[in-house]
Amino acid sequence: MMIIMASKLKQSYSSWVEVSTSALQQNVQVFKSISKNAFQIGAVLKGNAYGHGLAPVYSAVRSQVDAIYLISAQDAFQIRELERQNYWHPARIIVIGAISLAEAHQCSQEEVEVVIGGSEWKDYTQSLKKKACSLKVHVHLDTGLSREGFRSENLLKDLAFLKGAQKILQVVGIMSHFANTEDVTEQSYALEQVTEFKAMSLRLKKFLKLKGPIEEHLSASAGAMILPEARLNIARFGISLYGLWPSIEARISAKLVLKTLPELKPALTWKCKSQVVKWIKKGSYVGYGCTYRCSQETRIAVFPVGYFDGYPRIVSGKAHVLIGKKRCPVIGRVMMNHIIVDVTQVKSKKSQLEAILLGSDGKESISAESLANWAQTIHYEIITRIGSHLPRILTK
Ligand SMILES: *Cc1c(COP(=O)(O)O)cnc(C)c1O
Repeated sequence: MMIIMASKLKQSYSSWVEVSTSALQQNVQVFKSISKNAFQIGAVLKGNAYGHGLAPVYSAVRSQVDAIYLISAQDAFQIRELERQNYWHPARIIVIGAISLAEAHQCSQEEVEVVIGGSEWKDYTQSLKKKACSLKVHVHLDTGLSREGFRSENLLKDLAFLKGAQKILQVVGIMSHFANTEDVTEQSYALEQVTEFKAMSLRLKKFLKLKGPIEEHLSASAGAMILPEARLNIARFGISLYGLWPSIEARISAKLVLKTLPELKPALTWKCKSQVVKWIKKGSYVGYGCTYRCSQETRIAVFPVGYFDGYPRIVSGKAHVLIGKKRCPVIGRVMMNHIIVDVTQVKSKKSQLEAILLGSDGKESISAESLANWAQTIHYEIITRIGSHLPRILTK
């Protein structure tokens, strides 16, 4: 895994993503000020660190947070490799996604914690025992999302295999995940989940006779900010680590609950250098399908970025990019590898222009939320879909 620093090689890319170390660290400070040491800070780096790049984000936050959450065990092994290469102290890593038996063996060797969220773990136990593997595990309780995790109805029956297996699968944590904290400003469903979680957790701890402190964790970004009763021992910060609000509703609620609005700082800027800049005459058509026709003589710039790179085709005719602090419209259709931008108002006479597809420049900004609105989706999808083939450059 490569971490590219800003100073190097930037000139040679046509499209790249810059990730601000200070923004990430400022966002961690926001969580720390909410926590006041009452709960641990877990950083969620799934989905290529929400599209920001696993290695650069890990290197920027590793010393600031208490735990790293990932979906895939393969990501955890990549991080272990990166730590070895750099002689870094191994971080606490918790894999929350489903993993294979082979991956479970490797997690044991690599001292990666895992989450037991399904019945396959019953079958894994024997094999792990044979190979004398032991794992620190968190039990996932399904309290209302109906995704992974064990449900209240069959809780003790489904988890009976953990009884007497403590040497192989040592339960260190119990977790769940909210279904509906982001989309609403009233939290009745979430509060039911909290109640359910606490009751289930208590039953399980008694049943398994768990000794020692068991870490309970339930909140993602929204829950941790707006539901004090759900913060428990660790909060799992995903979207807000990257400086984005989970939703408008969450932002409104956070202001009410926290009294002040925390200052989250978006960490990502997506940039692209133009390939062609030229004037085309009045009446010219632009792009596939001839969906746009110039009403006047127009200066256009062609940028080598398209839906292959994660710039959604559906934003055709709606999106803007920033060039020299000016908002310039994307005209015609977004293509696989190209977009065409009207740069008539751009003062620079240069033959190559640099555009910000996502990010800010001075007072102007193209937020992930704006791009998501144009694309009729949510910002989570926009940022995680920025092509992983594009270089991620860590800046100050
Ligand atoms: C993705 C995820 C999170 C982080 O959610 P955000 O809304 O991005 O903070 C936390 N916990 C689990 C189980 C998740 O899957």
